[in-house]
Amino acid sequence: MNHVLAIDIGGTKLAAALVDASGSVLRSGTRPTPGQEVMAALRGLIEEVTEGGPEPGAVGIGCAGPLDLAAGTVSPVNMPSWRGFPLRDEVRKVTGLPTVLAGDAQCMALGEHWLGAGQETRALLGIVVSTGIGGGLVVGGTPLLGPTGNAGHVGHMSVDPYGERCECGGRGCVERYASGPNMARWALENGWTPGRASTGDPVVADARTLAGDAAAGDPVAVAAFERGARALAGMIASTAAAVEITTVVVGGGVSQAGPVLFGPLEAALDDVGGLGFVRAVEVRPTTLGVRAGLAGAAKLAWDYSRSAS
Ligand SMILES: [Zn+2]
Repeated sequence: MNHVLAIDIGGTKLAAALVDASGSVLRSGTRPTPGQEVMAALRGLIEEVTEGGPEPGAVGIGCAGPLDLAAGTVSPVNMPSWRGFPLRDEVRKVTGLPTVLAGDAQCMALGEHWLGAGQETRALLGIVVSTGIGGGLVVGGTPLLGPTGNAGHVGHMSVDPYGERCECGGRGCVERYASGPNMARWALENGWTPGRASTGDPVVADARTLAGDAAAGDPVAVAAFERGARALAGMIASTAAAVEITTVVVGGGVSQAGPVLFGPLEAALDDVGGLGFVRAVEVRPTTLGVRAGLAGAAKLAWDYSRSAS
């Protein structure tokens, strides 16, 4: 076999690609994630990408969580029509191919390790900072998925046991401080007037506007990024202490904020980290961007097909 089929499933977009063993994409396609009948849309996308092309040897799927890898089921928070949905078996039925499943952020981490900013790293944490915060670990070149596939859920690691209640039911989760909507929310609560730095476009009180204002020196916007960065630093230091990660790759929409995020993040890590191996953790921005998830799903399929043969 010369290709695998990689699939990336998120709340807003479905993506699929035929990918060879070096990571090159032969064919690809995307479509919006519908509110209902997601499987029908996915079936159409699979046909579009595979029809008339070389027969792939295996399928790798990255899907928003939570999921249950033993059962092959998914229950993405932002896709209410899928609860305990047997995604792996459904895709196996459609394609007739060996099919393997992991979380979308786990695939991002694996993709960055294979082809992106995390190449050659011995123990990698990939995080996606966006409307939520996801994560995945790649240790010794192998994804660390956990018994039910939920390892790396670092967005819901508590960095303040006395902190605010999170949507997940927990308290003081990183996501509550560092996701795009939560940084914008905190800034608004603390007197941020969105868009002072903008050039006349309609102003939306979101993380992108907040990043522009922080870059222009708005003190509340700067403080919101510092607060988010500090929460991320606490999570990174804790993860380093637990599994001795050497490297962190940060992706997701909020990572595009650049220096207003990465500057405070480096400073906070210096302050929060104590032990030498924790302080030595290196933080890098993504190099694959939105392609990381598909790359990781492809790598998952390649590794699966090799282990099965
Ligand atoms: Zn939480």
